[in-house]
Amino acid sequence: MEKCKSSFVVAAGKGAILELAAGAAQFAEKVSLVALAAPVSAQGIDAVYTLEDPNASVALYAKAIVKLICEQKPELVLVEQSRNGRLLAGLIAAAFGTSVQTDVSEIEYDGAFVTKRAGYGGLAVKVERSAETAVICVSSGSFPAAGEVPCEAPVVLKAEGEGITFVEKKEKLQQRTNLSAARRVVCVGRGIGDEEKLALAEELAGVIEAEMGCTRPVAEEDHLMPTNRYIGVSGVSVKPELYVAVGVSGQVQHTSGVSATRVIAINKDEHAPIFSECDFGVVGEAKDVLPKLIALLKD
Ligand SMILES: Cc1cc2nc3c(=O)[nH]c(=O)nc-3n(C[C@H](O)[C@H](O)[C@H](O)COP(=O)(O)OP(=O)(O)OC[C@H]3O[C@@H](n4cnc5c(N)ncnc54)[C@H](O)[C@@H]3O)c2cc1C
Repeated sequence: MEKCKSSFVVAAGKGAILELAAGAAQFAEKVSLVALAAPVSAQGIDAVYTLEDPNASVALYAKAIVKLICEQKPELVLVEQSRNGRLLAGLIAAAFGTSVQTDVSEIEYDGAFVTKRAGYGGLAVKVERSAETAVICVSSGSFPAAGEVPCEAPVVLKAEGEGITFVEKKEKLQQRTNLSAARRVVCVGRGIGDEEKLALAEELAGVIEAEMGCTRPVAEEDHLMPTNRYIGVSGVSVKPELYVAVGVSGQVQHTSGVSATRVIAINKDEHAPIFSECDFGVVGEAKDVLPKLIALLKD
């Protein structure tokens, strides 16, 4: 496969670093990594840059990161799709006089980078061809993860932020999750309604050893689940063997993020679109169906 000369990966999470390293190594002869949090490295990485204080705001290092990447003129910059990732991607793209390609799920290289991402809420695929330097935010699960290797002799970047004073860092109150790699997922939609029924769905997830996921409104409007657990075109993509959708209507913006071997749906509306996507469907109230299912599975 034709490769470009050099690339950068910019990411904080270990999972993202391992995935993006594998992705960059597919397309570039040289891969450099800016590890924004813990000093992690991966097979295929040629040089690692870390931040002097990974607990401080990434914004303080933005100038140094942009300068470093601009000096090395890579043809490809793969950036973790996170709040900090998007911030840095915008600054890097602006420095190269190009734009960022976000939510990308597929990349090809034919002398220029061609990316694919869902458009119009998942109803279309947008295909974009990059300028000289492609700055791409990649959805999780787009590449198989590279192996982790010890991070030896990283180059430490110093803060060059202006106008920002780092005061304190507090951990967000949300559970860590690796939904995109989960083998089983119980996903709750708005039909779950309240904490009591959510507890039933969590019990089911415990019994079948599944990760919990949700639809966007459950996280963003009802605030019943953390935002890193919503699945769909603008959230996490999942590829489990088993996907149990409880009180999920099955809108395309949600289902386009689901590629499951087997789908089970529980919904009180027999006309809900999810029933045309599932292998097994149960028409009923979540509060009635879930306890019966849990009891059956526990037997
Ligand atoms: C640009 C764009 C991007 C979007 N991105 C995403 C995304 O990434 N992910 C995502 O999920 N959504 C996304 N959405 C929103 C999406 O269009 C839907 O609105 C959303 O997926 C619907 O969530 P839901 O199924 O939980 O809720 P609803 O559509 O309100 O459906 C609730 C379902 O629960 C059933 N129900 C109600 N009560 C019960 C009960 N007691 N027992 C059993 N069933 C019950 C109802 O029959 C209904 O089918 C996006 C929208 C836009 C415009």
